[in-house]
Amino acid sequence: MDKYTALKTYFGHTAFRPGQEAVIDALLAGRDVLAVMPTGAGKSACYQIPAVLRRGVTLVVSPLISLMQDQVAALREAGIPAACIHSGQAEETCREIVSSALDGAFRILYVAPERLETDSFLHLALRLDVGLVAVDEAHCVSQWGQDFRPSYLKIADFLARLPRRPVVGAFTATATEQVKADIAALLGLRDPLTLTTGFDRPNLYFAVARPRDKERYVEEYILDHPGKSGIVYCATRKSVESLCRQLRAAGIPATRYHAGLETGERQKNQEDFVYDRRRVMVATNAFGMGIDKSNVSFVLHYNMPKNLENYYQEAGRAGRDGEKAECILLFSLGDVQTARYFIDNNTDNEDLTPAQAGTVRARELERLDRMVAYCKTTRCLRGMLLEYFGEHHPGKCGNCGNCCGDFVETDITTEAQKILSGLARIQKRWPGGLGVVALVQMLRGSRDKNTLNRGLDRLPTYGIMKDTPPARMRQYLDALEEQGYVVPAGDEYPVLRLGAPAGEVLFRGRTVTMTERRPAPRPAPSAGRPARRPQPAGADADSLLDRLKALRNQLAQRQHLPAYVIFTNASLTEMAEKRPRTTGDFLRISGVGDARARRYGMEFLRVIAEYQREHPEE
Ligand code: ADP
Ligand code: ZN
Repeated sequence: MDKYTALKTYFGHTAFRPGQEAVIDALLAGRDVLAVMPTGAGKSACYQIPAVLRRGVTLVVSPLISLMQDQVAALREAGIPAACIHSGQAEETCREIVSSALDGAFRILYVAPERLETDSFLHLALRLDVGLVAVDEAHCVSQWGQDFRPSYLKIADFLARLPRRPVVGAFTATATEQVKADIAALLGLRDPLTLTTGFDRPNLYFAVARPRDKERYVEEYILDHPGKSGIVYCATRKSVESLCRQLRAAGIPATRYHAGLETGERQKNQEDFVYDRRRVMVATNAFGMGIDKSNVSFVLHYNMPKNLENYYQEAGRAGRDGEKAECILLFSLGDVQTARYFIDNNTDNEDLTPAQAGTVRARELERLDRMVAYCKTTRCLRGMLLEYFGEHHPGKCGNCGNCCGDFVETDITTEAQKILSGLARIQKRWPGGLGVVALVQMLRGSRDKNTLNRGLDRLPTYGIMKDTPPARMRQYLDALEEQGYVVPAGDEYPVLRLGAPAGEVLFRGRTVTMTERRPAPRPAPSAGRPARRPQPAGADADSLLDRLKALRNQLAQRQHLPAYVIFTNASLTEMAEKRPRTTGDFLRISGVGDARARRYGMEFLRVIAEYQREHPEE
């Protein structure tokens, strides 16, 4: 069998996606690979096809149990014998899998990285003919990446202990040059084919909003998108709880997910969402790794994540079916403090040495700055994201909040002069500087105890901006910082200092402007503020597509599988369009491979034929 036949027979696809073929060719020829491909690009097929074509077993190192289980389910559906080994399994189950593996029952074995070091697994691995090792989420090996997992460092030792060194493929969705170098070095890749495919996801619309009332914004957004499925990410469990409660009170079928829930409930809620029983998931970032639900139409971030890697990954869960989808980040300044708190109190990795922990923290703070810059920028958002991941971009995409939204230039010269002269006075009396809060309170003429005790009320600039609301002050300060008139300093608490060009404003009357975002409407169909609208019960209830989905869900529930494991939305949409009559026609649908056609073909063909009979006019 060749790779094209394998692609069609097992996965039902007729053409490779960008990058897939090169990776598969290299692995088949015995060359190591480092592939950086965005979420949804089709990384799994890159090692699964070599796995069925090469001799020996393929081991896939994967950090997430839920992901492994879904992948194994999908492989079995595709007719490829596979299993997984992880610490959540009973001793008994594990022994059975090991003994079947030794009998040659599997082409692909998924294994959690911690297992690689255990005697029982080594015992197995030494007796298996391991031809290929695929390392998923390979960035976890690097301290420079955002998900460092020390257990990944053991992969190289493991490889060295095998009697014959297998071909190694490393896969990740995000990697800077530094992380790529780490992956190659720490996994001991040998002259790997290094391939980075485009990160752009043109069907995703990116926007940043600063609504006064976030809860209300989310509620209205969801009501304005009836029947659409989406995820709302919150920074804390508490906000997950309260937001989910509020959405339900508004009649929205929402469910929730965070690490504080019991395993049983977590699993049930996740399934409710994946099986489309509840269309909205409110969750912390504990949710989503390994969720391959393809019909997610929006991802809202109730809070700013702590870095762009996390943001792009979470937002990227929208629109995996290629349909248009929206990723909107709701930003408020409080989010910056929350993110900093999480960075300072990060206990994810207790096995880091203090030195390692220090590096990780410094890196995280740098990444946070870039995240905040994304929230504040008036430039093309997609451009910012792609640039961050090292990809060139023309600088205007036409499909993001900043490209579509319009901006107003406000002259803030007077305000800038007041702020800068206030800061100059403070700097003169307190050479070490005072906190931003002290500056703002002085300018606004606060009667606060700290302000008075310090004697800030005796400065001539005291109270010269007493009518300016604090939020507005913040915007001025942001604008001044963006343009370099003030520069942040201070470790303990934020302190501002005059920047080099400040003199131009203070003494030579330079004009200062601030670019302000008018609330960016989303592109058509629904421009402007979402209106409050009741949800229609089952809009367009009886189309062929709906019947096909209903059948898929029935089959999925009967076998306890996520719906997309049976067929993706893209496949169902194509069936509804092309209306195959024979098994041959059916096999021509993208995503329909031999095993699935054999198992489900008759039932889907029957539903299509029935529909044709009832609607002869169509
Ligand atoms: P990743 O692991 O890179 O996030 P997946 O391997 O989960 O992506 O693939 C994402 C989706 O793309 C899956 O639904 C998969 O069936 C589909 N896919 C993969 N390869 C192809 C292809 N060559 N043609 C069409 N669809 C594909
Ligand atoms: Zn843009």
